[in-house]
Formats: sequence, structure tokens, C-alpha cells
Amino acid sequence: MTTYDPIRTPAEFAGRRITVAGLGVSGVPAARALAGLGARVTVVNSGDGERERAQAAELEALGVTVRLGNGTASDSGSAAGLPEGTELVVTTPGWKPTSPLFLAAEQAGVPVWGDVELAWRLRGPGAAPWLAVTGTNGKTTTVRMLASILEAAGLRTAAVGNIGVPLVDVVLSDEPYDVLAVELSSYQLHWAPSVRAHSAAVLNLAPDHLDWHGSMAAYAADKGRIYEGNTVACVYNVADPATEDLVREADVEEGCRAIGFTLGTPGPSQLGVVDGILVDRAFVENRHQQAQELAEVADLAPPSGTAAPHNIANALAAAALARAFGVPASAVRDGLRAFRPDAHRIQHIAEVGGVTYIDDSKATNTHAAEASLAAYERIVWIAGGLAKGATFDDLVRGAADRLRGVVLIGADRALIREALARHAPDVPVADLDRTDTGAMSQAVREATRLAEPGDTVLLAPACASMDMFVNYNKRGDAFAAAVTALTAQDH
Ligand code: ADP
Repeated sequence: MTTYDPIRTPAEFAGRRITVAGLGVSGVPAARALAGLGARVTVVNSGDGERERAQAAELEALGVTVRLGNGTASDSGSAAGLPEGTELVVTTPGWKPTSPLFLAAEQAGVPVWGDVELAWRLRGPGAAPWLAVTGTNGKTTTVRMLASILEAAGLRTAAVGNIGVPLVDVVLSDEPYDVLAVELSSYQLHWAPSVRAHSAAVLNLAPDHLDWHGSMAAYAADKGRIYEGNTVACVYNVADPATEDLVREADVEEGCRAIGFTLGTPGPSQLGVVDGILVDRAFVENRHQQAQELAEVADLAPPSGTAAPHNIANALAAAALARAFGVPASAVRDGLRAFRPDAHRIQHIAEVGGVTYIDDSKATNTHAAEASLAAYERIVWIAGGLAKGATFDDLVRGAADRLRGVVLIGADRALIREALARHAPDVPVADLDRTDTGAMSQAVREATRLAEPGDTVLLAPACASMDMFVNYNKRGDAFAAAVTALTAQDH
């Protein structure tokens, strides 16, 4: 859609009229960076709450013009027209491609870049190459594992991008990075046509964010952009043929290889598992006869327990990217041993009265919830929130015989209730018709009532949290606080 390329070097930003669509974690750094380069920046943002006004004040002090509140739904962008004279729009990833501002930009022949595209174009000569990760689930875990491995190899690196560290800030910092472990969301990839990673992985592909992308095909195509122009390796999931299809469709540099990861025995050009050992049959001298031991599955285990299968897959993907960058096998092992998962990802909260409470608030879609429901035998499941266009039949059907009970919360809970009625009619359901802050406490109490000793109460909502909470972190925190309150009552 980009009809022309108005700005090719950082120096050319000076004096340009640039509109930044949206404030927030990527809009603010983008506006700040552009103002720093001498651009004439206008930020438009539909919300005008206290937080937005504080961000606006900070940017106005740098000479940025901020227009707040000229639209309605914040995720669909502002209804406002394109500011007069705009030469380039830089958007935060959440704005839908159908937002009126973008249509106006297209009509005016003005290009639209995402924050990641801007960062890519601001990289200086000799900048650190990117090892990039996308996928429906497992991105953050994999990127953190990758950074841990790269660090163990003595490389100067950081886990950046969608993980919460804006790429614009990273590329403009003075840190002399050797390589970056970059998490990219499908939204970011949509708006980043010229990014070219050294190597990249698509971990898996399941329906998510379809309301934003419009269709599964459009979602897959945006994810697949991560492989464009890769120079060394395109890493795909052998168990998920859609990821391999994306490799096949990508236009890569001469000599770039397709590398698979599998929980089974690896073939040539794959990484996999043999007798509890992670092995590499891709980055070895003779891949038809040789395999290199990387680490043991036990190296991935949390302090109390065994490694979940999806985390073994994430580790193999991280190892593949590190090996593509030339990291030795010993650093893969050391990096995986040093890795600790982030909060709200299958986090053990407490055991109360023989019932284990697990916070997987990060399971914001059905594919993630499926992975965590598969990890336990008898479950009281707390689910619900914003469905983002998903359906729940497959998820409920797959988990039905392990469900002891279900507690439903949030705006789209009826969708899950209906799927339960179809596929698990005998499982007791507590349907909480409230969205206030006390709702999670009640959910945990209801779950406790349904649970018996030996069961697991699992918060794996399969939905986004924003109908009731600021984000999935706050949802998980509310769960943990409610469990702690139970413990207090117990004593
Ligand atoms: P992302 O950054 O893609 O959201 P995370 O690493 O934060 O991924 O994990 C999100 C959730 O997805 C986890 O809580 C877990 O339930 C699930 N998950 C993680 N890795 C995988 C995987 N490889 N396949 C399926 N589900 C996964």
C-alpha cells in the first residue's frame, strides 16, 4: 500500500509532518523519538482519560501536538480526519487497519508505518541483527529463553519488542548490542513491511485476533511476514504444518534454510527430542549422520514439577534461533537452565486444603488454554472474558472429561456456557453475572466449593481480560489475592 518512500535516513525526518496514531506503550516512544529527530509531530488518540492527559503533557513539553478524545472506541482508532499536511503516519499496533484515519491516509497517498517499521528504519549502520519470534502462543517465553541462551554465550543482547520494551527506544539507545531477541505480534508484523530478520520463528498458528485481522488467512499472512528476507534460518513447528506453509511462501535470501522443531525424533534439518534429550540435527556438520546434544528436558523443569510439553517446544524454537546465530551447544544448555518463566504463565500460587491453585491468566485465547488444560488431570476451570471472535467447542470437547467444575466470568461467558452445555452437560457450572472488582474473589470461592482434594483450580480464561481488568497481569493478581485470602481464612 505504501505508494512512496518519503524518508530513507534518520536525518530526513527533520521538519517532516508526521502523525502518530495512538499514545500508549508504543505511541509515546515513537512520538518522542520523532520529535527528537526534529519532525513536526501530531499525536491523535481517541481516549482522553487521566493517563492519556499525563502522556500528552509529557509530549507537549517536547513540542509535540496532541489531539485527545476525537473518536470513540480506542482500539479501532479515531474517527478524526488526517491532520493537514501529514506526510507519514506512524501507528501503534492496536489500531485496526479499517480505521478511518488509515483510509484517509490511503486516499491521500500517505504511507502508514507501525512502530516496528519505524524502529527498523532508524537502525544505524552495523546495527545488531534481529532474531525474531512470533506465533499465537509462547512468544514471550521463547524470546526470554532465547535471550537467556544468547547471554549464556557471552553475547550482548536483550529481549525486546512486543514483550514490553519498545524497539524504537532500543535502536536509538547507545547500548552496543550484538544481537536482539525480538518478539513481534501479528499487529506489529502487519505494519512492518520492510523488517528483515537474520532468522525467525513462527511457533504455532491458531485462530486469534480474527476480529482485528478480518480472517484467518489475513492473520496467517501477517504472521508469515516475519520470514521475509531471512538470511540464515526460517524456524517452523513440525506439528503445525501451517507454519511450514508460511516458510514455503516466504521470499528469503539465497542460502536461508527451513529448520523444523519437533517434540519427536528430529529428521535432518530439525531439532527435536530423543530419550529426554534436546538434540540438534540442523546445525551440525553432517546432519544426515550426526546429532548434537543440546540440553536435557530436565533442564527446563520448574523447581517443583516437570516441564510442560509446550515449553519444551518453545525451548527448541529458541535453541534453533540461537544455533542459527552460531551459539555453541553448551550455551543452549546453560541458558535454558538459567531461564525462569514470567508471572501469570502456569504459575503455582498455593495449595489450600489439598487443592492446587494455578494462575495461567496469560492464556488469553483458546489455543493457550488448551495447552494448560492438557497439563492437569482434574480441573476446576475459571474461564471467560472477551472472546475476540473465538469459538469454544473444540476446547471444551477436548477437556470435558477432566473438568470437575467450571466458573464463568466476563462479558462473553455465554459462549463458553453454550459450548459446555453441548459437550460437557454434566459438569457443574457457576455463572457469575458481575464484572466489578470483587468478581474474582467470588470466582475463587465458587471454584473452591466445586473442588475436591487433589484437584487443580486453574485460571486459564481462554479470553482477553479487558472487560473486567486493565490487563491479564491484573486479572492474575486478583486471582492470587483471592487465593491468598482463602489461605488467611484457613488459619
Ligand atoms: P505470548 O507471548 O505468545 O502470549 P507466552 O509465552 O506469554 O506467549 O505464553 C502465553 C500462554 O500461552 C501461556 O500462559 C501458556 O498457557 C500458553 N503457551 C505458551 N507456549 C505455548 C505453546 N508453544 N503452545 C501453546 N500454548 C502455549
